[in-house]
Amino acid sequence: MKRNMLGSTGLEVSEVGFGASPLGAVYGAFAEPDGIDAVHAALDLGVCFFDVSPYYGATLAETVLGKALHGVDRADYVLATKVGRYGDEDVDFSAERVKRSVQESLKRLQTDHIGLIQCHDIEFGDLGQIVHETLPALRELEDAGLVRAVGVTGYPLDALRYVAARVRVDTVLSYCQYTLQDRRRAQRRRAFAETGAEVINASPLAMGALTQQGPAAWHPAPAPVLERCAAAAALCRSLGADIARLAVQFAVATGGFATNVIGTSGAQDIRRTVRWIEQPLDQALLRAVDTCLAPVRDQGWINGLPDN
Ligand code: NAD
Repeated sequence: MKRNMLGSTGLEVSEVGFGASPLGAVYGAFAEPDGIDAVHAALDLGVCFFDVSPYYGATLAETVLGKALHGVDRADYVLATKVGRYGDEDVDFSAERVKRSVQESLKRLQTDHIGLIQCHDIEFGDLGQIVHETLPALRELEDAGLVRAVGVTGYPLDALRYVAARVRVDTVLSYCQYTLQDRRRAQRRRAFAETGAEVINASPLAMGALTQQGPAAWHPAPAPVLERCAAAAALCRSLGADIARLAVQFAVATGGFATNVIGTSGAQDIRRTVRWIEQPLDQALLRAVDTCLAPVRDQGWINGLPDN
């Protein structure tokens, strides 16, 4: 598995990152041993970047990931987790809470340091507080050696850019906006480059919408978008192809991101994903899927507080 430097963080990450939200059962129940197997299969395949959050399954994902990584050489993986969002109604970006949150995450993840700590879904917080209070607090933890780099995550590109333009952040994790259906982040490449932050690409499968099984009921995209994604999946199936394969190949082969974080709960998923990225992108299939998705291209949803 190819590895890349994550911007100027000094962290080396795999081109495919392990998205651990499914270990919090956000895509449905799973057997913990299967989740642990998935982590071990990923490590065997050269995946070294793991992204999680206390929000995923109300700390379940961190706990399962911590169990899976227990005993693994600490030099063999980079951990990214988050602060600030703990439940749909439980958002707290205060310095006191985020510092305590990191200590709690360290315990659940059974480690003494976190590679990348990120403010989770900044659009649900007060952006001024994140700039002036949360990120400085996280920098103090960096100075203390508890974290190696500091970033922000979220959906609205304007909010991410707003924060990254006002305070130094090492990374910006953006999701569902460099996919077969939505490429808005590609249009903002220069705007983010100017901030000096490295962009992490998450959810190239559009949180399950670009898979044969389709999205979970909670998927926030408007119905016409999900209907078109289902039509594109059916088109691929009729041609003997798998839309998930095209979606993964598209992000990895054309995005130029240091890492592409993909939600994984089973060893089968990660084995398939790694096999797919070694195969060439089918340009004719990509054109056919582009045509199918054209009516909903770059359509997303509103996320976060109204002012963000
Ligand atoms: P995703 O686009 O990665 O899709 C995940 C879905 O695709 C799951 O249902 C999974 O089972 C399926 N899948 C994965 N590999 C597959 C394969 N080879 N074949 C068929 N299906 C496959 O969406 P995601 O999981 O929401 O996002 C990826 C990760 O990015 C998350 O786990 C999380 O770590 C991170 N993320 C962060 C934020 C944030 O911080 N705000 C938001 C979204 C995602």
